[in-house]
Amino acid sequence: MSNATAGGPGRLAGNGAVTARAPAKVNVHLGVGPLRADGFHELETVFLAVSLFDTVTVRRADGLSLTVRGEGADGSAGPASVPTDQRNLVWQAAELLARHAGVAADAHLTVDKSIPAAAGLAGGSADAAATLVALDALWGTRATRGDLAALAAQLGSDVPFSLLGGVALGTGRGERLTPVLARRRWDWVLGIAGEGLSTPTVYGELDAQRAAGTLPDGELMATTEPVLAALHSGPASALAAALHNDLQAPALRLRPELARAMQVATEAGARAALVSGSGPTVAALAEDEDGAVRLAAELAGAGVFRAVRAVHGPVHGARLVG
Ligand code: ATP
Repeated sequence: MSNATAGGPGRLAGNGAVTARAPAKVNVHLGVGPLRADGFHELETVFLAVSLFDTVTVRRADGLSLTVRGEGADGSAGPASVPTDQRNLVWQAAELLARHAGVAADAHLTVDKSIPAAAGLAGGSADAAATLVALDALWGTRATRGDLAALAAQLGSDVPFSLLGGVALGTGRGERLTPVLARRRWDWVLGIAGEGLSTPTVYGELDAQRAAGTLPDGELMATTEPVLAALHSGPASALAAALHNDLQAPALRLRPELARAMQVATEAGARAALVSGSGPTVAALAEDEDGAVRLAAELAGAGVFRAVRAVHGPVHGARLVG
């Protein structure tokens, strides 16, 4: 972990605004272990940061205020709509950093969302990580990356990875990270469903299926070795064979139409398709960049997704832009 400040004062734009961006993630391996006493499941996961970014712009203001624009901002997405008050993770990130640094939580935050909400892509976590980095610069709190990582873990299981980016092995509830070297770029097409899926609902369905014996018991049986080896040195067929997600079965149970969408993706040339995190986004692995462009065009025409995005990873975690 670097000791350098993540932003520091002096990065303010002429208009006094600071902008940071952070990426979406795909779990190329998501092993869900037993339910712990604290209500979280023990996880063993491999995160890959992909090139779909939200940005957060912060400005000096009296008190905290928030504007959300883009994906999920207009309230029309029902439960997947993005809140614009204290329930928003960026609001909580601002208050947490202010408390940590002993400064007043004075800022106006503008979140520009490209990452769909409740999609299994950690959009809210990306926004929280970008907020920590941007406000550290605006307020001159001089937090180290280690300080920000500790705050990130308090905000949510995926927030530390949104800060780190790249590829990482996550344990605990996903917040304990070990960076992993990936030697090549991986191209994907994200198939975004019309309606979001609540993460707790998907975990609840997994627990119910395990209790009923329709899914194997909650032990961490699948190993991360194959996916780590494939990520390191390819080829795409090896990564395709190694992809694993314990939340896929419950997500498919809740959204049976996703099975058809995954089949359409493989028929359209994807090396493999899996549910991203708790879904309902489908991540389709392409052979290379050209393959992803072709696959995105095919899937856009197939009408099984609300939207498709060609992305690649690994990309960097939350950082200042502009
Ligand atoms: P998780 O991070 O729980 O796996 P996810 O990646 O599927 O979830 P997110 O986009 O992070 O989904 O949003 C989950 C829920 O969190 C949303 O439905 C919304 O109510 C709430 N939320 C809070 N802050 C944000 C934010 N900045 N962006 C999106 N959703 C947010």
